[in-house]
Amino acid sequence: MSMFKDELSQLEQSHLRRRLTVVESTNGSRITVNGREMLQLCSNDYLGLAGHPLLRKAACEAMERHGFGSGASRLVSGTSSLHEELERRLARFKNTEAALLFNSGYAANTGIIPAVAGEGDVLLSDSLNHASIIDGCRLSKAEVLVYRHKDLDHAEQLLAKSRAARRRLIVTDGVFSMDGDVAPLPGLVSLAEQYGALLMVDDAHGSGVFGSNGGGVVEHFGLSGRVHIQMGTLGKAFGSFGAYAAGSRDLVDLLVNRSRSFIYSTALPPAICAASMAALDIVENDPALRVTLWRNRERFVNSLQSCGIETGGSETPIIPIIIGDSAKTLQASEKLFEYGIYASAIRPPTVLEDAARIRTTVMSSHADTDIDFAISIFSRLKQEGFL
Ligand code: PMP
Repeated sequence: MSMFKDELSQLEQSHLRRRLTVVESTNGSRITVNGREMLQLCSNDYLGLAGHPLLRKAACEAMERHGFGSGASRLVSGTSSLHEELERRLARFKNTEAALLFNSGYAANTGIIPAVAGEGDVLLSDSLNHASIIDGCRLSKAEVLVYRHKDLDHAEQLLAKSRAARRRLIVTDGVFSMDGDVAPLPGLVSLAEQYGALLMVDDAHGSGVFGSNGGGVVEHFGLSGRVHIQMGTLGKAFGSFGAYAAGSRDLVDLLVNRSRSFIYSTALPPAICAASMAALDIVENDPALRVTLWRNRERFVNSLQSCGIETGGSETPIIPIIIGDSAKTLQASEKLFEYGIYASAIRPPTVLEDAARIRTTVMSSHADTDIDFAISIFSRLKQEGFL
């Protein structure tokens, strides 16, 4: 039983060992940990929908009718009318011909990329893409060319060098999950069109947050119809669970036939699809939540900056406070915890070496008093030399 001890103690020594924090209950922007109520400042539940009464009601009603588990994979007997209805609605939401559900964003990226690219193909991937994209690229057996973060000139050089490839796919986060900056989508669309490449955008953090209808970064930039594969998740701004690929009917048919994480995995419980549809109703019909989210984001970022705290390249409700050293970042996170704020330390390999950070996220359910409290604590940490 001691065979893993060395690895664990190495992780401990380099301040990279991770531990789970148990959240006993959650209520909007507040969570209870070890019996103590704290301010939640690192959830991806941007619109505060995870505990919304309409999502709970939709899930309970669906459970009454469909039971809980789906019982089999989608191609066996796991496709319920709710899966189908949600896919139709997601396609309409993303303005595409069709959409296909996946069990998570991780499953989507590791399922979509190897289904559309393989030996003889080239993948062009942003250097700060999410781990699930990196793993999808590795699984694909295609040649992977990594371009410098958001560097269109570098992406173009790689496209020019890879003309012999059977197929080329550019893949990028829409919103980068650890830095909160936005991909240069108009430029990537132009490059894809100029070089005859496909473009895939992982909009895990943009869907529900960007665009006047919440459609995400593609809607925000007015690029509907020009991105071949739009991946989105339902576990973040939608407060539910699961993910999807949206694109052409042929893309979805290909994924149904080729995508291993889709084919060989039990389907999402129908009640989750019902909750996702309730979330979609809110995202589409209640823009006020997005307005509050962005207002909260401005309040938080402006106040941090007036305290002399840098927020990197953040352009979104994801606001990293980059410390660099992992040990110092852990200390800062522990101090925040002591003062009543939950914001976890993000360390390598999730981020680059020497780029450890406190990744904060703002939610529409934060009250002004929550934001002001957070600011008072961050400025205290700064004065105490933790930031
Ligand atoms: N893509 C990005 C950009 C993400 O940030 C995440 C989640 N951290 C995922 C994919 C994976 O999504 P899920 O949590 O649904 O597996």
